[in-house]
Amino acid sequence: MHNNTKRWLASFLGGRVAHVTFAGQSSNIKNFTNGVPQGSVLSPTLFNLYMHDIPTPQAPQIHIASHADDITLTCPHRNADTATLILQPYLNTLNAWFTTNRLKIAPTKSTVTLLTNWNAEHRYTPHLTINNTPIPHTHTPKILGITYNTSMTFKQRITTIKNKCMQRLKALRSLASTTFGHNKETTTTVYKQYIRSVMDYASPAWASNLTETHHNTLQTIQNRALKTITGCTATTPPDHLHYETKVLKIKDHLDMRGTQTLAAASTNPHHPLHYMAQHPHMPRTIKTTPSTRYHSQILSSLTPCPPQTNLQKHIHTQITHQSIQTLKNNTRLHARPPDFHPSESSLPREDRVHLARLRCGHHPALLTYQKRLDRAIVDACPGCNTAPHSINHIIEDCNAHNHTRQQHNIHSLRALWESPVQAMTFLRSSGLLGQTA
Ligand SMILES: [Zn+2]
Repeated sequence: MHNNTKRWLASFLGGRVAHVTFAGQSSNIKNFTNGVPQGSVLSPTLFNLYMHDIPTPQAPQIHIASHADDITLTCPHRNADTATLILQPYLNTLNAWFTTNRLKIAPTKSTVTLLTNWNAEHRYTPHLTINNTPIPHTHTPKILGITYNTSMTFKQRITTIKNKCMQRLKALRSLASTTFGHNKETTTTVYKQYIRSVMDYASPAWASNLTETHHNTLQTIQNRALKTITGCTATTPPDHLHYETKVLKIKDHLDMRGTQTLAAASTNPHHPLHYMAQHPHMPRTIKTTPSTRYHSQILSSLTPCPPQTNLQKHIHTQITHQSIQTLKNNTRLHARPPDFHPSESSLPREDRVHLARLRCGHHPALLTYQKRLDRAIVDACPGCNTAPHSINHIIEDCNAHNHTRQQHNIHSLRALWESPVQAMTFLRSSGLLGQTA
């Protein structure tokens, strides 16, 4: 390190003073002789450096994971009492080291948890102390913003995500309605940055073993967001929403993030998670761990990364491709929908909402759709009275629209994707939609 950098750091950390002002009165000035400024970007790094010579555990079972002032000790053992006995001497060693280094562990701010699959052990309280003060027991420890629980199901994590996302969905709704607002591309970006990012936070650490119920909770949040983005009706099949927005199903997205993380860890020996990729097989696998899910199951099942190709990009391409394959055919085309013609982005939001709804047949202007909601409605085309009033009939068959169809060169339902501007003009002239935008 250059001497100037050292001097700069000394000046950054030294001579810090503070005082409190209350009701017009100021306290004496107090000097800070140690510690780092709260909230500065350098502080966690400096603290990590300060913590670098923390004593290594003598017991091979103990693993220490720390980030700045958040320290977690783990000690796996078949017997909970034994695990406790192994941990206590190390806690004593740590406490002595902290005291010499002018740091203080607050025993009451620390917590101890027994992680176990055995329900009978859920009531077991490990007895551990710091400075003879017992550490409080919790079933739901919070580490770097993630709440764990005794059986590692991440139930609390899902609840936290759900509450936060539901609030944020309201904000998304205020950006776009069915007739006005920002376009599909902008609102999709807002969804990814502002809502999906809540689900993404540290997901490779917790998403590998979610139950189907938990996945469904997250997927429901995404479906709601995609309905707002596209303006589609509540009845719209989720697969259609994913075709319209080109967003991955949430499980595939989380799998992709996890696989990219484990791939980075396995290819780089200096990666802090490298050990996970090196030892994917545990003696007894009860739970799917990040390394079994993302490394052994997904990464090893992908086609090998071609030379000169970025591995992260390759994983993205492969998983996106697989994800699209799992989407069901479009219900109106009975096939995969074609790509959108770029001219669609020139249309106003109101028209794009009409198109997104008509492409799946869930549009309030169609009697076929209205009949879904009210069985008393007679589903017969008002133009020819011979067939159900479906989008297929209007675009491909209805005799009443033969002339208009010729005029606008509309012959197949695929026009809704392939020539959206002409399709909209046709639909307005046919009288299905209002005459003006
Ligand atoms: Zn007709």
